[in-house]
Amino acid sequence: MDLALLETHLADSGQPAYRARQVWEWAARGAPGYDAMSNVPAALRDGLRANVPFSTLTVTEEQQAKDGTVKTLFRTHDGHPVEAVLMRYRDGRRSICVSSQSGCPLTCTFCATGTMQFGRNLTTSEILDQALHFRRLEEIDHGRAPKPRDTIHPSRGGGASPLTNCVFMGMGEPLMNFDNVIAAAKRLPDVGVTPRRTTISTVGWLPGLTRFIDEVDEPIRIALSLHAANPALRSQLMPVNDRYPLADVLAELHRYYELRHRKVYIEYVMLEGVNDTPRHAAELAAILDEKTFKVNLIPYNPTGTYGGSSRDAIAAFKHVLDRARIPATVRLTRGRDIAAACGQLAATR
Ligand code: SAH
Repeated sequence: MDLALLETHLADSGQPAYRARQVWEWAARGAPGYDAMSNVPAALRDGLRANVPFSTLTVTEEQQAKDGTVKTLFRTHDGHPVEAVLMRYRDGRRSICVSSQSGCPLTCTFCATGTMQFGRNLTTSEILDQALHFRRLEEIDHGRAPKPRDTIHPSRGGGASPLTNCVFMGMGEPLMNFDNVIAAAKRLPDVGVTPRRTTISTVGWLPGLTRFIDEVDEPIRIALSLHAANPALRSQLMPVNDRYPLADVLAELHRYYELRHRKVYIEYVMLEGVNDTPRHAAELAAILDEKTFKVNLIPYNPTGTYGGSSRDAIAAFKHVLDRARIPATVRLTRGRDIAAACGQLAATR
């Protein structure tokens, strides 16, 4: 829902200021459409239906993987493809992976998104509409009726949300679209996802990272796509490293930790014979410390260019980190059979 258009339309209709908030809260809690908003006058609902599209995105295609992961391909009003993913875990967590841009202007060699044409930054509403889509999907699955305004307040802990976590790990580099990403993240609690359960992943886009540290008070988590400790290798895998060298990025992340005392996640995609030997692990351990960082090793999801590291290679790599006391886990791969896993979002249809 285009929130700016919503406000203009309501103001033009002579509505009181609280109305926009009221409509948004319904949408944020998974109402299927304006008609469900029982405390909004019927005439006003008609006006909204005619003038403010319920979503800024239209669903083009939706696929469900064997493990329950859902990948949705959307299109913006001006035709740009956007993909987002819903991951369902057995313990009840529902994690959404949202896109911040259509395509990505960076050209990391292992990532499928970089091979498609870059479209543009997504607006705050286009980011939020990905979340609202999955919220509605989960409401339907649970057979819940949308709740009226005064019976549930996620911010006050009133009622469990069908969505629990959000990662900005879909298409695009979130910190290149700073204002819209942060504005969207700040509204996610209305959808049921708190800042502590929101993670922004970055290649190390330094201007955005600096603003994040200086301007964002919410305890949103940050993750760095690191992938190689060696500068020459990292530049080869991620050309952005020439522009914003890793040492500068790590210095900034140390500043973040000193201010917030929140651990920074390090993402490290395991490419066979490229960055996955014990020597690479030792190089990684040497630039990290156990206090500030936690490493997430990501099995490579095939996109054509590289081979994925074997289980043994990943275990050996992790062993080196364990011995250096750098906390490390191996990321569970989800949705690979529908190309919904990390780095596979390329909107090919
Ligand atoms: N641009 C941001 C947000 C995208 S996050 C960033 O790069 O951090 C997507 C994550 O998946 C990143 O860590 C990225 O490096 C990783 N990734 C990309 N391609 C992958 C692949 N083929 N297999 C596994 N992980 C991949």
